[in-house]
Amino acid sequence: MLINLKELPQGKKVIHTVLNAGEIGIKEHEKEFELKGDVETEITFIKSRTTVNVRISVKYTLKLQCSRCLEWFEKKYHETESFVFREGEEKLKKEQSLSEEDIYTYFYATEEVDIAPLIRDIIILSVPMKPLCKPDCRGLCPVCGKNWNTGTCEHEGNLKPVTKLSKLLELKDKLSR
Ligand SMILES: [Zn+2]
Ligand SMILES: [Zn+2]
Repeated sequence: MLINLKELPQGKKVIHTVLNAGEIGIKEHEKEFELKGDVETEITFIKSRTTVNVRISVKYTLKLQCSRCLEWFEKKYHETESFVFREGEEKLKKEQSLSEEDIYTYFYATEEVDIAPLIRDIIILSVPMKPLCKPDCRGLCPVCGKNWNTGTCEHEGNLKPVTKLSKLLELKDKLSR
């Protein structure tokens, strides 16, 4: 999605558009998630003499796999991120430490900038490291694999699902003996 920053009028301009996975550069079936349907996009440009502030607001639905029970579930997202484009070449020295503002500052020497990779980054960054179908997902039985959200098995009550915390408690128990 190419935008000609030089041709943008001074002041504010809002673009509403609907983009699909291909237009954003996301595969419909990524390894960790699926993008379900289209991405509702609102882009607000505020142009001054040498800078263009770009605020991108996106609505989309992801299909994610629960890290505890391994079931796939859908989650709606509404994310907003701001970026700054400055005319000219980047003058930042490598040794300079980057502040948060710098990270989202882009320099444009060419007239056209592609907005699609920015939208792609917003979506990729919103994918949780350990998705949960619900906050209190009970997970799978470590012995027989029964999904404890949908029923019980003979091992329930004798066992807790294996978590980092349960491993630590086990270790503490051993050490204190
Ligand atoms: Zn789950
Ligand atoms: Zn079981």
